[in-house]
Amino acid sequence: MRRNEIRQNKATGQWTIYAPDRGGRPHDHPSCSSSPAPLPDWEERCPFCPGNEQMLPPILFETPGLRGNSWQTRVVPNKFPALTPEGGCQRSIRGIYLAMPGFGHHEVIIDSPLHNRDIAEMAGEEVEALIETYHYRYLSLKQTDAAMLVLIFRNHGKRAGTSLIHPHSQVIATGIVPHHIRWREEEGQRYFDTWGRCVYCDILAFEEQDRQRVIWENASFLAFIPFAAEVPFETWIVPKCHRADFGAIADGEKKDFAQALHAVLQMIYRKLENPDYNYVLHTATRYNDAAPHLHWYLQICPRLTTTAGFEIGSGIRINPTLPEENAAFLQEE
Ligand SMILES: [Zn+2]
Ligand SMILES: [Zn+2]
Repeated sequence: MRRNEIRQNKATGQWTIYAPDRGGRPHDHPSCSSSPAPLPDWEERCPFCPGNEQMLPPILFETPGLRGNSWQTRVVPNKFPALTPEGGCQRSIRGIYLAMPGFGHHEVIIDSPLHNRDIAEMAGEEVEALIETYHYRYLSLKQTDAAMLVLIFRNHGKRAGTSLIHPHSQVIATGIVPHHIRWREEEGQRYFDTWGRCVYCDILAFEEQDRQRVIWENASFLAFIPFAAEVPFETWIVPKCHRADFGAIADGEKKDFAQALHAVLQMIYRKLENPDYNYVLHTATRYNDAAPHLHWYLQICPRLTTTAGFEIGSGIRINPTLPEENAAFLQEE
């Protein structure tokens, strides 16, 4: 097995992870969410289906079964990890360049024992178990050495980059903070220094009152298409209570978060006909847990468009739709 490595682009300061063995991971596509054939609820070659545990690395955690199943969610180390818990964050000089071991943690969360049960089709209690699992793994990985950033994300469908159909999420803990994340934190800090308020709390208060882009809400969360959404139907689910760190979510809020995620994904599933999508849980980096200028939230990006030359060259996205029209469309009966 070749060792993973992280290298820095000397001209930009950006880090890239090299994981040469990930190329060998199994793929059970050709088709995924867009498949016309209905998926079975169990698949004999799927490592995530019950009874196929011999294909899995040792199970790290599982939640009790619901609806007659022996477990509901499971967490395993990623068999083809982007980062591994070997080495450390020690930087080394290679010629004129900077590199470090591909150190970190990469786990898979199996969202359901059923091969074909995506979040939009789950019962409420199944989504709650998933949020509990996210929270538990987040807290566990945050305590590991040098976890500067713990990122929970989910890829749904082939265009979103998933290699296995069985519904699953992922968590990566890494010792580096990438540019765009530090930049977002610094923008939040600058806004706070200017106005004395959290920029996310201000956005939340405006959207809640303006209502043009709001698509769903409950007592603890507001879901809306951001004013400057980068892709069609990009959606944010933002907690109404200011907290920088997802780890600090209150017990009572977890159920509301599960309800919000469930409702929004059902809306997207129904109105956009089960599109491929990615979602990412944005939360404060290490040592910023109590920051007054950061605010955790979940960002969903449907994969309806592709990134082309102008976007790569400029970093500016061209969104062929308007956020207000996206919000109105999702809410039409
Ligand atoms: Zn499966
Ligand atoms: Zn806030």
